[in-house]
Amino acid sequence: MFGRRLDLLGPEGQSDLTFDRLVLATGAMDRVLPFAGWTLPGVFTLGGAQIALKAQGVAIGRRVGLVGAGPLLPLVAHQYAKAGVNVVAALDATTFAAKLAQLSGLFASTDTFAKGLWYTTRNRLRGLDVRYGIRSLRVEGSDRVEALVWREPSGEERRVACDAVGASFGLRPEAQLADLAGCRFAFAADARQWLPERSGEGRSSVAGIYLAGDGARIGGADVAELQGRRTAYAVLEDLGRAIDRHEVARLDRALARQARFRRALDGAYPFPAHLVDTIADGEIVCRCEGVTVGALREAVQNRGAREVNRVKALTRIGMGRCQGRVCGEAAAELLARACGEDIDRVGRLRGQPPVKPIPIVAGAS
Ligand SMILES: Cc1cc2nc3c(=O)[nH]c(=O)nc-3n(C[C@H](O)[C@H](O)[C@H](O)COP(=O)(O)OP(=O)(O)OC[C@H]3O[C@@H](n4cnc5c(N)ncnc54)[C@H](O)[C@@H]3O)c2cc1C
Repeated sequence: MFGRRLDLLGPEGQSDLTFDRLVLATGAMDRVLPFAGWTLPGVFTLGGAQIALKAQGVAIGRRVGLVGAGPLLPLVAHQYAKAGVNVVAALDATTFAAKLAQLSGLFASTDTFAKGLWYTTRNRLRGLDVRYGIRSLRVEGSDRVEALVWREPSGEERRVACDAVGASFGLRPEAQLADLAGCRFAFAADARQWLPERSGEGRSSVAGIYLAGDGARIGGADVAELQGRRTAYAVLEDLGRAIDRHEVARLDRALARQARFRRALDGAYPFPAHLVDTIADGEIVCRCEGVTVGALREAVQNRGAREVNRVKALTRIGMGRCQGRVCGEAAAELLARACGEDIDRVGRLRGQPPVKPIPIVAGAS
């Protein structure tokens, strides 16, 4: 993206498009944290495990352990079990008490809440080993996954044999295009993430750039659809077109109800920051560049790094293929712990083009 011009790459090749209004609806991806054994063959993200099943009709293994900190965990456990896969454990890094505390807010979207309750109940009835509030986790194996090991809230260590693991810790918006478009970001304490600012109507801080769906804040599929419609009305209004005020009011009410539900869901599944302290120095945090957690901590202790882009410059974290999409949030969490700062004080990795890998020929032309 350069000013008001988009560089596009698709099946028909490369092209560009100038615009005066742009709606960015770039979606989300898994939120990742390193843990012992996370680079072993057979470890997937939870979303990757779901995509394998839904898009390719294959499971990631025969005896599968699942780990999560969001509503995707009971859903994927249900989908895998229903498909006949042996789900040997479903480990929730957040507590059951956190869910109970949010019960009234969760009723703001009875349909979605009922679905979640149904998956959880079915998982129980199938006899799945569902655990809450795990304190640490590691995957064991010499050249591929052999077992999943975790620590219970009581401190007891448990181990289960498996041949694949799906693990991630919520979702994160794919907000790099908003960043490149110059949108202002703010730290959202409830989501524990830096998010591009978006008004209720879908306007960003940059005139002519609009944000819809999970790409600006995780809301889920229903919210993405509602917000997409609401944003379209904002675009029409800004273009001076007549809009259906009755429909806009209906969308605003529905979005307000969904926002109440999402606040409760975020409270029910808070980011499991306690796992950050369990990550050993030898673990790799940036897989593209092979940078270890120890190298990051060394940059803090010996070279005074206090900000995540400084850590990037010193260690090459986030400089590889994924441009920090996978490791950026984990690096910020590790940095905050290492220098004893609150997470909102260590910054966020700035977006750099290209935000996703492109063929060299495309970049050269
Ligand atoms: C791993 C995962 C699993 C999920 N599972 C479920 C589920 O089981 N049930 C459920 O209800 N919800 C699920 N969700 C949430 C649901 O997918 C989203 O809430 C919903 O799809 C959001 O819609 P959206 O339009 O914001 O983004 P999306 O539907 O994700 O669409 C974003 C689009 O933007 C494209 N895009 C992004 N960046 C670029 C770029 N730089 N250039 C070109 N194109 C780009 C993407 O390829 C994608 O096509 C899941 C989300 C994730 C990340």
